Amino acid sequence: MDAGSPILAASGARAAAGAVQSNRYGRTSARRSEGPGHRVSTLVHTVLSQHTSDTNSHRAFERLRGRFPSWAMLRDAPVEAVVDAIRPAGLSRLKAPRIQALLRRVTAERGRLSLDFLRRWPVDRAKAWLRTLDGVGPKTAAIVLIFGLGKAAFPVDTHVYRVGRRIGIIPKGLSVEKAHGWIEALVRPARYGPFHLLLIRHGREICKAGRPRCSVCPLRRHCDFFRRAGVGGGEQPPAPYWGGGRVSASSEGRHLHRRQDAVNGV
Ligand code: SF4
Repeated sequence: MDAGSPILAASGARAAAGAVQSNRYGRTSARRSEGPGHRVSTLVHTVLSQHTSDTNSHRAFERLRGRFPSWAMLRDAPVEAVVDAIRPAGLSRLKAPRIQALLRRVTAERGRLSLDFLRRWPVDRAKAWLRTLDGVGPKTAAIVLIFGLGKAAFPVDTHVYRVGRRIGIIPKGLSVEKAHGWIEALVRPARYGPFHLLLIRHGREICKAGRPRCSVCPLRRHCDFFRRAGVGGGEQPPAPYWGGGRVSASSEGRHLHRRQDAVNGV
């Protein structure tokens, strides 16, 4: 699929969402905003989670909160103390000053350590403001918007990007940065949270990075990767989807019809 096939991409997105939910994982609810402090927590925790595992970032976050009971104490602490607290998350010498700078910026601009003001802003304005913060890219901004502020944004992490490209809902050649807006245009805003979480879970449990478990995957009928590789029953990794098997015009047509049929049933 190329970037000029939005209808087919939308079809794939809906089919994938429906198939994952109905075939394996059941209904999934997005994490919800839990109050004002949660918004700053979401921002800090998401910065900690960059380039590390969930386990490591959770551990670093708990150490941080244990040593600095308030955001103001964290903001004003010696940077070395923060570096030490978040060491389990890795890149601590980069992340510590970055987190403190975020907190100082919020304080300087808003007069208090709170992101509540973003709730009143349109999502595009809130996203643009978050993106002006050092260390906040499209994924971090989207996570804060949807899970901290309850706004419509779709975060694309490594699992979402991999699974989305394999299935075909993220076009070949589209950058991870541009994939955020692409998926936001394909999926109903009310489904952003559940779809995001389902793709992550699918990427962790089935569509793994090194060895996708296609033989047990409920999305095979909708997946470009599987179709192009012509994988059968085993759990052998298919041929690379980016250069995968030749697809004849007739098989391509049959596949697209099947995917559209699936969409109509979702
Ligand atoms: S069929 Fe294979 S490549 Fe496609 S989504 Fe499922 S596990 Fe991933």
